[in-house]
Amino acid sequence: MANFETVQVETDLLILGGGMASCGAAVEAAYWAKKNGLKVTLVDKAAVDRSGAVAMGLSAINQYVGLKEGDNTVEDYVNYVSQDLMGVARDDLVASIARHVDGSVHLFEKWGLPIWKAEEGGYVHEGRWQLMINGESYKVIVAEAAKNHLGTENIIERVFIVGPIMKDGQVAGAYGFSVRENKFYVFKARAVFCAMGGAVHVFKPRSTGEGLGRAWYPPWNSGSSLYFTLKAGAEQTCQEVRFIPVRFKDAYGPVGAWFLLFKSRATNAFGGEYMVERRDELQNWKPYGLVKPIPANLRNYLGMLDVMEGKGPIYMRTEEALQKIANEYKDDPKAHKAKVKELEAEAWEDFLDMTISQAILWAASNVEPEKRSSEIAAAEPYFIGSHSGASGAWVSGPEDLAPPEYFWGYENMCTVKGLFAAGDATGASSHKFSSGSHAEGRIAGKAAIRYLVNENPAMPTIDDATIEALKAKTIKPIELFEEHKDFTSQVDVNPNYILPKMYMFRLQKLMDEYAGGVGSQFTTSKVLCERGLELLDMLKEDSDFLAAADLHELMRCWENYHRTYQAEAHVRTMLFREETRWPGYYFRADFPKLDNENWLCFVNCTMDPETEEWTMLKRDILPMK
Ligand SMILES: Cc1cc2nc3c(=O)[nH]c(=O)nc-3n(C[C@H](O)[C@H](O)[C@H](O)COP(=O)(O)OP(=O)(O)OC[C@H]3O[C@@H](n4cnc5c(N)ncnc54)[C@H](O)[C@@H]3O)c2cc1C
Repeated sequence: MANFETVQVETDLLILGGGMASCGAAVEAAYWAKKNGLKVTLVDKAAVDRSGAVAMGLSAINQYVGLKEGDNTVEDYVNYVSQDLMGVARDDLVASIARHVDGSVHLFEKWGLPIWKAEEGGYVHEGRWQLMINGESYKVIVAEAAKNHLGTENIIERVFIVGPIMKDGQVAGAYGFSVRENKFYVFKARAVFCAMGGAVHVFKPRSTGEGLGRAWYPPWNSGSSLYFTLKAGAEQTCQEVRFIPVRFKDAYGPVGAWFLLFKSRATNAFGGEYMVERRDELQNWKPYGLVKPIPANLRNYLGMLDVMEGKGPIYMRTEEALQKIANEYKDDPKAHKAKVKELEAEAWEDFLDMTISQAILWAASNVEPEKRSSEIAAAEPYFIGSHSGASGAWVSGPEDLAPPEYFWGYENMCTVKGLFAAGDATGASSHKFSSGSHAEGRIAGKAAIRYLVNENPAMPTIDDATIEALKAKTIKPIELFEEHKDFTSQVDVNPNYILPKMYMFRLQKLMDEYAGGVGSQFTTSKVLCERGLELLDMLKEDSDFLAAADLHELMRCWENYHRTYQAEAHVRTMLFREETRWPGYYFRADFPKLDNENWLCFVNCTMDPETEEWTMLKRDILPMK
């Protein structure tokens, strides 16, 4: 076996991932752990300062309810989320986050995050729920607080988590490997908190070649949360609810500030405003089509109908929006000039805060937003339960809000004892974004410590044979490469193995063509899903031959294993739900209508960790207490 040292770590609570939810969990769990003499350890595949979806920074905090200010109520937020998800949301979970999220935002400010302030006092809102920030260093600030609470000696970076270790139906820890040194890691834990983000590159992206890493969703989250919780035997929900963001084309720059702050219009190439011209279509998606704001997927859908009719490209009318605002100063040329300059700066800064490549693309293609419109387009599908998608683990709600069917002891505990989740890792509680994920992490971190104190589970023992078997499985791609690499003169052409990039292309192609990606106009059907599953099955067979030339490629191999299970969960759930509920995210050509009578419910699934047999089930949508 290749020369890999085995490192064993023992901890009471193991936090997996170092993103927004994990940083929230770290802060809260560290506080309660100290009081109870417990040890908490956090593991991230990257460096916590710049890991996860907020790595590059953000220009807005998307969830702030404004309870103290009396701006909104928790119920307002619950209604908004339920409507936006076409009726499919866990009100108890959404309310649980909504009542705590402002607290996270206030902490961010206390830790040093600059939040824009209005001249008349209070925060500057981008929209009803969003606050504008100078957010280039957002993640660094949130990470610093997590480090201060947890202690850097309890944070292990650059370790990729492969999967769970289970004992007697209970989670006993995790295993993984260093992406920098030849080290295999075994973590023994009495409770585990999983927040390893959502998934990208399951579907073929619009960009190819050098642009491949440029997707809307950050390329380093690859379905590890789903794989981990699924392989632990945890029930999943809403695995069909992918997210398709409409963003500035090719660099995925955010559109929120344009729509909400600058009040820009989006039109087709002929100047037609699809949101106006296609308004009647919304009647077909009643009652959700008639609410304000119109659900994100329906807004997408109206634009897609224009594109399908050949009326593309779709444009963001940037020049019109900026001129309109500046025109308020038209009688004062000096003030007008100053306003134009200020708006231009805000427009560029919006990208520089969170999607620098969009600013580079604009600069490279001579875009002057005050002079010319810019193209926007629907991206390929992503899995991000914290944003406008909803896929993730099925977790317990809080005792005071959850109906009995949704409560099993501890907030955010999966259906597996001792396993907690938050952020993109939990489902049916969309629109938590960065701040809500942090708040949910805090809720789950605290609940995990309460679980440890109340239940006092024993520290698991893991025998040497189990550790050796997990190690052999983890590093197998390295061994395979070593054994066969000299068979041909070209390392990427070899009948004995498949390299991770090639494997990923194969996965992406089949998902694009059979599961409703960009290339098939987001459309699928029973026969397409079934054929997709057949091809996925064969891909899984070939995953045995994934090979890695080095540690980086070993990570790429495991990212692909994780993506494959994300893909399968998605296709199986789309196949099971015989209706179209989220046009604009995906369309079932054989069931093109909303069917509230049969499908106003959650579709959940489980996979037997040993046999890998799947079970699909419906769960009722229940109001909170
Ligand atoms: C493009 C984009 C724009 C967004 N814009 C906004 C916005 O403007 N405002 C806003 O409030 N929110 C925004 N969000 C949402 C916000 O970023 C997410 O809601 C939030 O980051 C989710 O937190 P999380 O902890 O679940 O995941 P992340 O913050 O993504 O953290 C995941 C963590 O898991 C780690 N990880 C992954 N796999 C492994 C593995 N196998 N082993 C070990 N570690 C692993 C990663 O390194 C990372 O540390 C945006 C998201 C995206 C993708």
